[in-house]
Amino acid sequence: MAQAQQSAPDAQEFDPGPSCSIEPVLEAREVTKSYVLDELVVDALRGVTLEVCRGEMLAIMGPSGSGKSTLMHIVGLLDHPTTGSVTIDGVDVSGMTPNELAAVRNKRIGFVFQSFNLLSRTTATTNVELPLIYAGISAGERTKRAREALEQVGLGNRLTHMPNQLSGGQQQRVAIARALVTQPSIVLADEPTGNLDSRSGVEVMSILQDLNEQGITVVLVTHDARVARHAQRVVHIADGRMVLNECVEERIIARLEIDQLDADEVSEDMAAGLSVNARPQQ
Ligand code: ADP
Ligand code: MG
Repeated sequence: MAQAQQSAPDAQEFDPGPSCSIEPVLEAREVTKSYVLDELVVDALRGVTLEVCRGEMLAIMGPSGSGKSTLMHIVGLLDHPTTGSVTIDGVDVSGMTPNELAAVRNKRIGFVFQSFNLLSRTTATTNVELPLIYAGISAGERTKRAREALEQVGLGNRLTHMPNQLSGGQQQRVAIARALVTQPSIVLADEPTGNLDSRSGVEVMSILQDLNEQGITVVLVTHDARVARHAQRVVHIADGRMVLNECVEERIIARLEIDQLDADEVSEDMAAGLSVNARPQQ
């Protein structure tokens, strides 16, 4: 007989782990989110409490439909919780007006999406400049900062390319440059490698790890356990609830993975060269 599916443990059973030693940069308290669609209520989040420490790299992992994107949108101030509160840099944003929320988002948070979300008819530089337009920065300064951000993600030679002239990995790097250009303290990345081949995915993870080493707090959503192991800590979400909080024992360092991929390519090339040389001469 088929066994009944085990339901997620109660929120009370979730051990959030030790608190941050200094004030958390981002905090969600008892956050719920219910969507009402054609009189059907979907409880996407059922009471999530989460602290993200300053300078931490955290992965939120869970299956499709578990509430990961909903949570990212709420802590990224792109959506409101139904109940509960969100605190950014010690400030509870619950009572803020849309303009105040937009200002906090623009100043403190950079967002990276699975599908890049670039404007298709604008160059890489202009895409990266966009958040600076909203921040009221002058045109000359915008271009300079956009170029620097693109150089930081290794795209200094693609400044005037349109998104459709770039590979998926390069488009995601433009999106990361756009997230960086306002010098945020937090980068939120929702399945940033989900649409990429494995090498481009590793390159994106390498950039996120570099940013984290520079002091930026990185929160990354993924359904892939291997991607999650690039973070220092993984919080698991199931059915709208946090169910497990664990430190990553053997963290994967993306730069080393890239070195390994390069070495594999060289040996493949050598093997191919040898087999060509080994062919009998005509
Ligand atoms: P994940 O990112 O983990 O795949 P989501 O946060 O996108 O999950 O979705 C969680 C649940 O909320 C799903 O059941 C989804 O169908 C539902 N949901 C998400 N966004 C909406 C929406 N705008 N309207 C109605 N239901 C939604
Ligand atoms: Mg999602």
